[in-house]
Amino acid sequence: MAVEWDLADDHLLEMARSIIRDHHEHLLEARIAFLYRSEASKSGGKFILGMAKKVSEEMKTLINFDFLIWISKPHFDNLEIDQQRALVDHELCHCGRNINEEWIIRKHDFEEFRAVIQRHGIWNDDLRWANEAFKGAKQPTLIELSTPGGEVATLTGDQLARMSKGQFTRLESDAIQAVKDELLEEAKALVDENGEISISKIQRELRVGYTRAAQLRDLILSARGEKV
Ligand SMILES: [Zn+2]
Repeated sequence: MAVEWDLADDHLLEMARSIIRDHHEHLLEARIAFLYRSEASKSGGKFILGMAKKVSEEMKTLINFDFLIWISKPHFDNLEIDQQRALVDHELCHCGRNINEEWIIRKHDFEEFRAVIQRHGIWNDDLRWANEAFKGAKQPTLIELSTPGGEVATLTGDQLARMSKGQFTRLESDAIQAVKDELLEEAKALVDENGEISISKIQRELRVGYTRAAQLRDLILSARGEKV
C-alpha cells in the first residue's frame, strides 16, 4: 500500500510544544511542520519511526517552514507516553542552529555496533559520553506485549522497530486483547458524572497510547450497548 501522509493531531503538537519549551529553547523561533506517516520507512533492515528534515531554501519559496518532522502513526500509537516523548524529543534534537544562526540538521551523538562494544569496549570519545549518559539515564517504561502463547513479553521500542509489519500487527492485536482485561476496570472508573469518557483522560491517567485508550473507551461503550 502506498504511504499516506496526514497532518499531526493536537496530541503530538502539544507534546512537541512542551518538549520545545522544556529542552529546545532555540526552536521556539523555528517553524516546524509535523506530519504522520501511515507506516515506518525502512533502512538497512530496520524500521525508521520518525525523521527530521530541514526545508531547503528552494522549498521555502513554496512552504513556510524551517523543518519538517514525520512520525510513523501506527508505531507512535503503540508507544507509551514516555516513549512517545522520547521519540519526539529525538527528532527535535536533530533540529539545530549553528553559530551563524542558520538552521541545521544535527547528527546522532553516537552510533556503534553492539558487537564492537562487546569486543572492544568504550574505545572512543563518543562512546565515553554515551556511557556517561547511560549511567545517569532513568529506566524507561518498556512496552509489554503478550505473545501468542499467553506469556507477557517485554519489548523495547528498538525491538519493536525491528519487527516485520506482519509480526507487528499480530502482536499489536494480542497486546490490545491483553490490555483490555487488565485496564478495563480502571478505565471504567474514569467515566465522569455525565457519563462522558475522554480518550485523552484515559491516556493520561492510565499512561497508555491513543489506540489503547480508544479501544478501552469503545469497550466501555459497547458494554453499555452504545454504538461506537
Ligand atoms: Zn535520529
